[in-house]
Amino acid sequence: MNIIPFNDGVFSFVTTDGCTAKCSHCLMNCKPGLKHKLSFEQMRKAIDQFSRKKNANLVVFTGGESTLLGEDLFRAIRYATLKLLRTRLVTNAHWASSLERARNYVRKLREVGLTELDFSVDDFHEPFVPLDKIRNAWLASKGVGFDSVTLANSFGPKSKINPDFIREYLGENLPEVSPTSLPDSQVYKKSEDGTFYSIHISTLQKSGRAEDLDSELFRGVENQELLDCPCKWVVAEPVLSPLGHMWACCGIPCDNIPILDLGDANKERIDTILKRASKDVLINALHYLGPYKLCKFVEEHSDIRFKRNFCGACEICSVLTANKKAVEVLRANEKSLAAILQAVKFLKDNGISAGLLNKNVR
Ligand code: SF4
Ligand code: SF4
Repeated sequence: MNIIPFNDGVFSFVTTDGCTAKCSHCLMNCKPGLKHKLSFEQMRKAIDQFSRKKNANLVVFTGGESTLLGEDLFRAIRYATLKLLRTRLVTNAHWASSLERARNYVRKLREVGLTELDFSVDDFHEPFVPLDKIRNAWLASKGVGFDSVTLANSFGPKSKINPDFIREYLGENLPEVSPTSLPDSQVYKKSEDGTFYSIHISTLQKSGRAEDLDSELFRGVENQELLDCPCKWVVAEPVLSPLGHMWACCGIPCDNIPILDLGDANKERIDTILKRASKDVLINALHYLGPYKLCKFVEEHSDIRFKRNFCGACEICSVLTANKKAVEVLRANEKSLAAILQAVKFLKDNGISAGLLNKNVR
């Protein structure tokens, strides 16, 4: 078993749990008034360790609302830039109250070297961030030299703000990409000004605050077997949380969640934490088998039963890892799991498909 930490070359900072908005679907449970945040020093140390990795490529600043960090955000982006890393900011664009303000803010981001800018836009953001702010931020980001500018749209069957709505609102025929789009796909075509403009689509998942939303808002997955897939992100794309903890991924908030909260980076080096995680049987089980198979494994080894109306693999993972008894069952059976993993890894390494390894679906 050998998951390679940072294998995808991406390191994300969930910079703060505070936000200017309180969206009812917020996966991370962020809202105004929450105060945990990463300091510039924490981010600098993390960037130092990350930049020494062979594949180090991209630092993502997400939240909460990272712009609440003020100057520390600009300092951290500049620091990563000086380490020759690309940088992405995910923001709700609350700062774009006029086109002029938006242009000033975007100019500052470009001056410190930001290469990718993502705006969150959907039905749940709209009550807090009106669409005209998105339009201001979008227009201000045109032709200023970003590698990509993206509208992150999470939607379900009843959503008003879906990709078609966005295309009509902005009057642009923007391509859609998803977490599973192939990098060489035709949709990844830069516009004439050198920037790739797109809508990044994701399905609503019943995790975080979205657990309380009406079921009708979610796109159900009738054939739950489609969610039976290994997780390519776990530890390959780790996260530093607002508490300074290392998370296994950015799929769900992982602070103090068994398996996925890998350790406290205030007390241990990030490299040490990730090295330990890459050998953990349950982390490897998520990587090679995925959360769906682990739920089945728990059911076969206990009287625990899981529901079967999940909307995505991360939602399964969230339910599984939050269930302390289920995690105990997995830990108690690590030896059997390790044997299964050896067999699956052998098949994978030798390019043999046994119907075990489906496509990644988040
Ligand atoms: S979804 Fe984004 S903008 Fe909305 S509350 Fe969460 S972090 Fe803030
Ligand atoms: S399946 Fe689990 S480990 Fe993988 S990205 Fe989702 S929450 Fe993270």
